[in-house]
Amino acid sequence: MQPLLAHNYSDLPASLSSACSPTPVKAPFLFASNKSLAETLGIDLDWFAAADAAEFFGGSSAHERYQSRATAYAGFQFGQYNPQLGDGRALLLGELQDVAGQTWEIQLKGAGPTPFSRGGDGRSAIGPVIREYLISEWMHSQSVPTTRALGALTTGEPVVRDRILPGGILIRVAPSHIRFGSFQYAAARQDNDALNALVALSFERHYPTHPPAHRTASTLLELVIDRTAELVARWFSLGFIHGVMNTDNMSVGGLTIDYGPCAFQDDFQWKRVFSSIDTRGRYRFDNQPPVALWNLARFAESLLPLLDDNESAAISLAEQALTNFESQFNAYRDAIFAQKLGLDSTLGSYDRICQPLLNLLQESRADFTLSFAYLEALTRSNTERVTLLERLLPQQDKLKAFWRTHLAEDAAYPQTGATNPLRIPRNHQIEQVIKAAETGDFAPFSALERALLGETSEYSEEDIRGPKPQEWLNRTFCGT
Ligand code: AMP
Ligand code: MG
Repeated sequence: MQPLLAHNYSDLPASLSSACSPTPVKAPFLFASNKSLAETLGIDLDWFAAADAAEFFGGSSAHERYQSRATAYAGFQFGQYNPQLGDGRALLLGELQDVAGQTWEIQLKGAGPTPFSRGGDGRSAIGPVIREYLISEWMHSQSVPTTRALGALTTGEPVVRDRILPGGILIRVAPSHIRFGSFQYAAARQDNDALNALVALSFERHYPTHPPAHRTASTLLELVIDRTAELVARWFSLGFIHGVMNTDNMSVGGLTIDYGPCAFQDDFQWKRVFSSIDTRGRYRFDNQPPVALWNLARFAESLLPLLDDNESAAISLAEQALTNFESQFNAYRDAIFAQKLGLDSTLGSYDRICQPLLNLLQESRADFTLSFAYLEALTRSNTERVTLLERLLPQQDKLKAFWRTHLAEDAAYPQTGATNPLRIPRNHQIEQVIKAAETGDFAPFSALERALLGETSEYSEEDIRGPKPQEWLNRTFCGT
């Protein structure tokens, strides 16, 4: 049976969303379905596997089955304020409550034009759908806060980009999709009712254990600063570059949201940029923490009317909260990297050991993921893994010397499991899967999905290696 959805967003002030149904597509086909997430959400698995679900999520059911809405938001894109963005190719179908009582929004990404499409087609090509499905679910598997992917569909219809490509729809799930830009939209309209409603919903969905009596805008600001600091530190620890950290792509719950031209570092470079539109490197790897702070400052500005009736008092409150970001980010980063190296985080190991290590990776063009896995394998005396990784790391001598000097004596890991991932969603692998899917072959997608998200712990060199020169992808695209 189709899940029974609630429609909380339509209870918010009307300016924050518009009713809008998906536009039916020719041949919706669910080529990826996340059964474990479906189960968590209490979705009937028989229904989920049937054609009715593909029709519903593909937007092809009868109109009366949808009470979907497109939500409004603004945003600073590459530093420039855009007052009117909103769900141009996404639709909020409604909300579901899971068995633990957590409410989740179900969104379709690529379901057709909305009042916020600004001339765009509201559609998505299959490539970005596949990329987001695999990366967001892998991020979740690594405990990085993120929106989730419940499923992915082909539409049976072409979309026109620089080429004609098969269309796709992603079923995206999150406690909320509220963005910094949602607040900016309300603030620009001086709509304090809308601002207050967004504050209340943000607490409900992302900070539910916070006592209702203390759910103020200033507390929300502090919580969002803290979550964002942790999020960016987690990205950092995996070599992840979001690529388009505009304020409309920043979640109030500190989730990774809007996977566009994102990618993971192969060989490590502090200033790595992948996105083809990020010509000045605003969102380059090492600029993510200061950009997050800049975005948080824009978020804080949108909350000023709620912080204090006296504007200068409100500003100093916001400034005070923002000054904590750097030390919060550093604390998360230091703790996460200490864990990656098997060190005690209280000993200031980031500056003494980790930063020099990252410099070494940059100088020697070593693979970020494999280098950390190698150091861990050395510490664990895991000879099999050491041998496997030495075949893939020409920099092994330098890394081993580094390990002897800085880690051999002090490093130790918990007994169970590996701390550093061996397999990540490599850009070249995702590109190969997308290319095959564009010709209608989904076998490579399913194989990569199983390998990244399944229970495998056996890896071949081919599975984990970095790109060969001819596979090296130095540019990624939003695909909008
Ligand atoms: P992004 O930064 O890629 O998440 O998107 C920026 C804005 O452009 C958002 O408001 C999107 O909804 C909108 N947008 C992106 N692609 C399309 C499209 N194909 N049709 C309509 N709107 C789009
Ligand atoms: Mg976006």
